Amino acid sequence: MFADVIVDISHSEADKIFEYSYSDCGVLPGSRVLVPFGSKTIEGIVIRTKESCEFDVNKIKPIVAVLEEIPALTRETLSLSEYVAKTCYVSKALSFRLFLPAEMRKGRVREQFVKYAALNENADIEEILSSLRKNALKQRELIEFLRANGKSAMSILNEKFGGAVKALNDKNALIITSEKRFRSPYKDLGGTAKKVVLTEKQRGAIDFIQNSEKLTTLLFGVTGSGKTEVYLDLIDKTLKGGKSTIMLVPEISLTPQMLKQLRARFGENAAIMHSGLSAGERYDEWWRLRTGEAKIAIGARSAIFAPVENLGLIIIDEEHDGSYTSESAPRYNTVDVAKFRSSYNGAKLVLGSATPSVESFMNAENGQYNLFELPDRINQKPLPDIEIADMRKEVRRGNNSPFSSILKDEIAKCLEKGNQAILFLNQRGYSKTVVCTECGHVQKCSSCDVSLTYHKEDDSLLCHYCGAKYKMIKACTECGSPYIKYGGFGTEKIVADLKTLFPSARVLRMDRDTTTSKEGHFKILNEFSSRNADILVGTQMIAKGHDFPFVTLVGILDADMSLHFSDFRSAERTFQLITQVAGRSGRAGEAGKVVLQTYQPENHVLRQAINYDYKGFFEREISIRKATAFPPFTQIVRVLVQSENDELALTSVKELYEELSAIKKVREDCFKFFGCMKAPLKKLQGKYRYQILMRIDNGNEDILDSVYKSVNARNKGKINAYMEINPNNLT
Ligand code: ADP
Ligand code: ZN
Ligand code: ZN
Repeated sequence: MFADVIVDISHSEADKIFEYSYSDCGVLPGSRVLVPFGSKTIEGIVIRTKESCEFDVNKIKPIVAVLEEIPALTRETLSLSEYVAKTCYVSKALSFRLFLPAEMRKGRVREQFVKYAALNENADIEEILSSLRKNALKQRELIEFLRANGKSAMSILNEKFGGAVKALNDKNALIITSEKRFRSPYKDLGGTAKKVVLTEKQRGAIDFIQNSEKLTTLLFGVTGSGKTEVYLDLIDKTLKGGKSTIMLVPEISLTPQMLKQLRARFGENAAIMHSGLSAGERYDEWWRLRTGEAKIAIGARSAIFAPVENLGLIIIDEEHDGSYTSESAPRYNTVDVAKFRSSYNGAKLVLGSATPSVESFMNAENGQYNLFELPDRINQKPLPDIEIADMRKEVRRGNNSPFSSILKDEIAKCLEKGNQAILFLNQRGYSKTVVCTECGHVQKCSSCDVSLTYHKEDDSLLCHYCGAKYKMIKACTECGSPYIKYGGFGTEKIVADLKTLFPSARVLRMDRDTTTSKEGHFKILNEFSSRNADILVGTQMIAKGHDFPFVTLVGILDADMSLHFSDFRSAERTFQLITQVAGRSGRAGEAGKVVLQTYQPENHVLRQAINYDYKGFFEREISIRKATAFPPFTQIVRVLVQSENDELALTSVKELYEELSAIKKVREDCFKFFGCMKAPLKKLQGKYRYQILMRIDNGNEDILDSVYKSVNARNKGKINAYMEINPNNLT
């Protein structure tokens, strides 16, 4: 018999099918195998088995070993990996890696086995007992123990009965077995299932999703409208029907929270896929899903590749979130992958959001998706009032602090009542920039074209793009002046200022710097939700999904930040962010309040956001996108060429541009934009970056294929070239 194998080498030269022979019946499509390759033995995946081969049969080598009894990939994930390779323009080997826990490759983690002993049913225990010497007390006790308790762990038996275990085993009185043990992460999450009676609206949503013919439903529900309960009920029904679920959340920090709810309700049926787990835990959770022992996969975007079979439901919570687009190869879009799995399995796909992406809402309007709305908060709690604080006036009044007087007052009131507040700011560190007051020089990273952020905690300057750390300067590196100014503020500074303004308030900070450890997120969130703190200061991380009932005040410290990006999505992002952060306020009990600080109070996006006018926002935004030929009406294709050698990168990108111009010439009318330029981030991690930007009408995959061929041909030696489709980040 023969097998088509993809070897685990991501080079494009190795990106083809290799044939091997085998006689072992354990070789199945999807099996991971060891195969000879050149002078080495490497891992590969069987994609097909067959009776005959195309290559010279005398030269075909045999498969060395099958790595797991159960094929790692299923029929479905095999074809999904092909789809990913094709649509994300990556090698098959690279696409396979999405489906396997990293530690599975190269055999870095072994399964853990536990040994058990039981009485041998085929042995005459009475006879053995009577043959025992009088003083063999331990052996008698062991037999009694096993009679009473049945199969028991060897570790326990050895401890209790010592040498008697071996002695009885030598008399053939025992059966010793070895069983796989699963390492279980977040074992002590605790939590009990919240008993809620679903509202009529929630039941309506569930019936609608279950009974609809279309597979995809956009669940457009305001923050606090009870979407999570809808998800849980749908998962329950799916589980009862014997099928599995994939549930995605946008932020890794939200997974333990969601896992807690799932565990409380579905016990060991829930498995978590989380990059923060230990290698062993990750491996074991993956196998629990693969074997069907667990039927609910929960995680951030990569959990869409969960190895579950018999998929009945996929939920993507906060579907609009940028984290659902992968920024490194393979650059997949999670919603597209979900659609593949949904239609392959006939599984329901639920996209939930209070601020759907413009694309999803358009699909709901044009009938590609179902639309179900939950326009009210549970118990008719009003959405919090959003008040604008005009920071221009504050500056005119001489207030240069990060807090407007309105916000200061509201914080004081909130603390007085014993409620909690969340302050949001999308900048970690102490100050955003460090500037010389004499010559105006801004300290920059030597390998990136970006300014450095001051971190007071360890008196360092940090590059937020490459992570490089520099010592804080004593004097300007340009002119030597000792007069250094901090420009802009970050979370560290906010916490410091709060300590001065409200000395008795207990303040927590949550950003990338405070959540480096595995359970860092979880600890901070737990502290806050158990009311061991009054104010939570944080970045993007705290904007999403969290349900803190005692938060009555949210402060958005710099609402303009995301408006400044030159990205076509900046209006959409800003609207989403404000709505999401505001949604953390007043979710139970008292009515909530939001203070939004801005230098552009008239901006229409801010106006629509404070009025919770999603549809108004959508109408305006979609007509702009249409008029300017931006997604979802076209596809943005970005080609990035980078090299440590600036000249080389420039020459290469120019040549590539010429090549692509030839493609454009033939299909002129499909191109809405075509240009070559420096990337907004001119230098990153020591590499100079140039880009070719294109906007191409939808549905021209053949053009994309040709572009990719040209780009890939350039990707060698000192040049790194790659292509992105609708990237999230255009820096
Ligand atoms: P969303 O995900 O839409 O922001 P959640 O699902 O977090 O909203 O619900 C908001 C709050 O309302 C939660 O505390 C949740 O437990 C509660 N809740 C949801 N549904 C019900 C219900 N039917 N009855 C009572 N409380 C509910
Ligand atoms: Zn200077
Ligand atoms: Zn850097």
